[in-house]
Amino acid sequence: MSIQTSPIQSKEFPSTRNAQIEILGWLAEYFALTVKDIVRLRGQDPEDDNSRRCVQQSINRLLTKSKLHRVPYVDERVKTPTRSFVYGLNDSGVDEYGGKSLDDHSARTIEHELHISHFHILLKKSFPEPRFIITWQQSDLDHGGVDPDAHFSITHTNLPPDKNTFHFFLEMERAKIGNVKGDEPSIIRRQARYFELYNTDRCVKEWGFKQFRVLTVQRTAEKMKNLCARMATVPAHTSTCEIHQYQKKCNCKKLLLNHRMFYMTTEELFQTQFANKIYRTSKDFTTASYPLLEI
Ligand SMILES: [Zn+2]
Repeated sequence: MSIQTSPIQSKEFPSTRNAQIEILGWLAEYFALTVKDIVRLRGQDPEDDNSRRCVQQSINRLLTKSKLHRVPYVDERVKTPTRSFVYGLNDSGVDEYGGKSLDDHSARTIEHELHISHFHILLKKSFPEPRFIITWQQSDLDHGGVDPDAHFSITHTNLPPDKNTFHFFLEMERAKIGNVKGDEPSIIRRQARYFELYNTDRCVKEWGFKQFRVLTVQRTAEKMKNLCARMATVPAHTSTCEIHQYQKKCNCKKLLLNHRMFYMTTEELFQTQFANKIYRTSKDFTTASYPLLEI
C-alpha cells in the first residue's frame, strides 16, 4: 500500500489535524478506547453531546484514512445499553505511531482490553510526572512462567534511586469461564506461579527485578473476598504439580498464598476510587486496606 500525502489532510483546519494527531497518540499509548474515553482524556465531559460528536468526527476521518480499527462493543453497565465501538490503531497506524495493533481483535474479549486501558489511564492520572515516572508494558509478557495482562512500574522520584521503583503485574479478571468441578481454579494455579517467582534470581533474569505485587482485579467484591479467603486458608499445589484435583493425593509441597504481594480490588472500586485505599491483600484482607502505593 502506498503512503501519500493526502490532499484531504492538507485542506483540513490545523485544529482538526491536531485533534486527530492527539487521538492517534492516545490510542498508541492506551491501546483500546471508546469515544467517551477520548472525550475524558481531552478533559471534557463524556456526557456532553457536542464533545462526543467532535471526537467522533475526528475518529471518522481517521477511519477513512485507514489508521484505525474498530471492534463493536455493548456497554452493559449503563441504563440503556447501546451498541458502540472500541477504537485502536490498526497495523498501519502502529507503524507510524507505535503501540499495539487492534487488528483482528475479537469482540468477545474487547471489554477486558477496555478495562486494562481504563486502569492505565487512571494510573497515569493518579501518579503524575514529574514526581512519579510510570512505565507500562502490555505486550511480550510471557516470561518466567507468568503471563500478566500488563506489567507496570511506579518510580517515586523523591526516594533514593536504589529503592524508588515498585513493580506490579496486572491481572484483570475476565468474565467467568467455567472450571472443571473438583479442580483447583486456574486463578489459584496462576497465583502459585507468581508466588514461586517472587524474590528469586529467576525473576531478576526474566524480568529485571526481584520483588513485585500481583494486582488482581476481580469482577465483584464477593469474588474478591472469596479469592482472598481461599488463598489465605487452602494450601495450593505447586505450579509444576500434575495433580490439581482436591480428592487426589500428591507429594508436592503445598503453598499457602497468604502474602502481601497479592493485591486485590474490584472493577468498580478501581474505576471510581483508584487512588484511595481500595486494595486488599490475601494476608490481612479482613483487617486492612491499602492505597496502590504508600507514599
Ligand atoms: Zn500437588
